Amino acid sequence: MTEKAALGRLREAGLEITEHRVQVLMAVGNTAHPSSAQDVLEKISAKKDINRVTVYRILDLLVEHHVLNRLGLGEKSQRFCLRGAHEDEHPHFHCTRCDCYLCLNVPHMPLDREALDDLSLDIRHVDIRLEGICPACQKKLRGPHDSTPPDKSDS
Ligand SMILES: [Zn+2]
Ligand SMILES: [Zn+2]
Repeated sequence: MTEKAALGRLREAGLEITEHRVQVLMAVGNTAHPSSAQDVLEKISAKKDINRVTVYRILDLLVEHHVLNRLGLGEKSQRFCLRGAHEDEHPHFHCTRCDCYLCLNVPHMPLDREALDDLSLDIRHVDIRLEGICPACQKKLRGPHDSTPPDKSDS
């Protein structure tokens, strides 16, 4: 995500542009893996002066304005990722071996909300998580044997 794109998203969300907001948004927007607040803090503080409270406050603000998704994994392990300009929350993949998360580019995971109508739930947030084993871990599980290329006869 470029600085220009970050500025555009903030403006679109009706938010005042501040240096810190741009930094936080770019830190989250420039990775395919949802970031924790700690990740964001480390990434920015390597170059700029920012404190933890500011990072948390900006992340909350951006979630509130639908610029970021919050993956609710409990208070301590929340992660954040970029939300498309006009998209709903997208689903995520969680690797149960290395604990990494991936944003899935699936615009619609059909959820029949009408079927839930009878329950009178006031749904505020949808968090769809698929669990399994990521490609890197699958490779490790298969071991070194499979990764050697098949023998080719000299011809
Ligand atoms: Zn993995
Ligand atoms: Zn995501």
